[in-house]
Amino acid sequence: MKYARRDFFKRLIKPFKKSYLYPPYYKDRADFSFCLKCSEKPCVSACENEIITINDGIPILKFNSSGCVFCDECAKACGKVLKVENKREKINGEVAIDASVCLAYNESVCFSCQDVCEYDAISFEGMFNPIINEKCVSCGECISVCPTKAIEVKPCGGL
Ligand code: SF4
Ligand code: SF4
Ligand code: SF4
Repeated sequence: MKYARRDFFKRLIKPFKKSYLYPPYYKDRADFSFCLKCSEKPCVSACENEIITINDGIPILKFNSSGCVFCDECAKACGKVLKVENKREKINGEVAIDASVCLAYNESVCFSCQDVCEYDAISFEGMFNPIINEKCVSCGECISVCPTKAIEVKPCGGL
């Protein structure tokens, strides 16, 4: 019995040791512990962009084929951990361009990331050298359109 209790708490704590990207409607990361008891996971099917996946029982975002449009649907489907009133202006990640693989930095004309960014968050210095600016909300829309996979988003902890 003693060991079963310990295992339960280990399971509860493990997902928070590493940082992930989360749907932008939570108040506190610890609230995701409620997800372990949520068997249906309606937030996943509510996302039309199919970017929510379950990791260790908790919903996280993957920008493999699309990004987040802040549509509120995951929050409406949940209402307990994700709530519309908790809506954040930014996803808990930092976006960066790897200049070593970016076509533009290597003097080929490419505006794929800038074209898809609705936030005007990618500035070019002349024809080349795209820079992610302060308007970026880490929505992830630019990631899958980059032909050389030069854009990555790193989760930020503590949000
Ligand atoms: S975020 Fe809400 S709907 Fe999604 S798994 Fe957690 S409790 Fe369930
Ligand atoms: S806000 Fe919309 S697009 Fe973003 S994760 Fe939630 S359901 Fe998906
Ligand atoms: S630069 Fe930022 S705001 Fe613009 S598409 Fe990429 S992740 Fe979204």
